[in-house]
Amino acid sequence: QAKQQGGNRFQLFDVSQALETRASHQTLARMTEALHNDELVLHYQPKVNLRSGKILGFEALLRWQHPERGTIPPLEFLPVVERADLIVEIGDWVIERALDQLSRWRTHGKDWSVSVNIAARHLKQDGFAAAVAEKLAAHPELHPEQLDLELIESVAIDNIQHANRNLEACREAGVRISLDDFGTGYSSLSYLKRLPVQTIKIDQSFIRGILDDPSDQAVTMAIISLCRAFDRDVIAEGVETRAQAALLLSLGCELAQGYGIARPMPAEQVLDWAESFDPARIGESV
Ligand code: C2E
Ligand code: MG
Ligand code: MG
Ligand code: MG
Repeated sequence: QAKQQGGNRFQLFDVSQALETRASHQTLARMTEALHNDELVLHYQPKVNLRSGKILGFEALLRWQHPERGTIPPLEFLPVVERADLIVEIGDWVIERALDQLSRWRTHGKDWSVSVNIAARHLKQDGFAAAVAEKLAAHPELHPEQLDLELIESVAIDNIQHANRNLEACREAGVRISLDDFGTGYSSLSYLKRLPVQTIKIDQSFIRGILDDPSDQAVTMAIISLCRAFDRDVIAEGVETRAQAALLLSLGCELAQGYGIARPMPAEQVLDWAESFDPARIGESV
């Protein structure tokens, strides 16, 4: 039968596509259930200033606490979810949860920021900016600048190209915007001038090779000077070792995030972690 199908490319294509569609439907149904059964959780990874040791805030990263399979990382379920409207519901949930958490930390005297990752499909929703403003309005104790939306390059540029007002409106409301995984896209640098972003995150693939790969170091230096020229903040992702942190500082990049500072952790661990954080010990606990 395989031979028969192999002889008919269209049929083979249909079969595999149907299987894929069915798998996606199953995943989406299961994820909808997961959302409503409280199986989704956010872990938080700190962003710090390497020079001063100051904790700036935390990036909220989605996890699926599967009843049988344990903690499932986002890349195992988000790609399917991001192709469906469920990402809007999940994305809204992430923003609300992250703001609630920020509010709780505030009662402990912490004026941190929280970063949330926003999917293309979510940002494209007509009511996106209004929904964000509404969520912020529910937290009058928080400043809009404490919310940071992380977008990958292609998403931000697509937003500009299709004259979507969402980014601009979020920016006008005081919300911060970051460009995630910077350097991995194919954007023209001139777009940077038009994008209402305050922060650029150097992709971890460059940081990984920064000590011994001259081209990774060159890209990192170019991004840092670009940020200086455009008056944007720059943060390095994926900082794992003390040597990487030291080199970044010497290159003029003071902000960092990575396993060498802390792995993403459940919200309950954050205050204790912050209490014991010692910038002199970066890279010791990877
Ligand atoms: P991202 O936004 O670029 O997040 C950084 C990823 O790198 C996270 O993986 C983080 O755990 C990991 N990471 C941080 N420091 C290090 C390090 O030093 N070394 C290494 N090897 N990895 C490090 P995670 O949590 O698995 O998330 C993967 C991606 O899933 C994220 O990439 C983001 O694009 C997406 N994502 C996560 N949460 C959400 C969400 O709530 N909504 C949306 N739309 N996407 C999300
Ligand atoms: Mg991110
Ligand atoms: Mg990233
Ligand atoms: Mg990424």
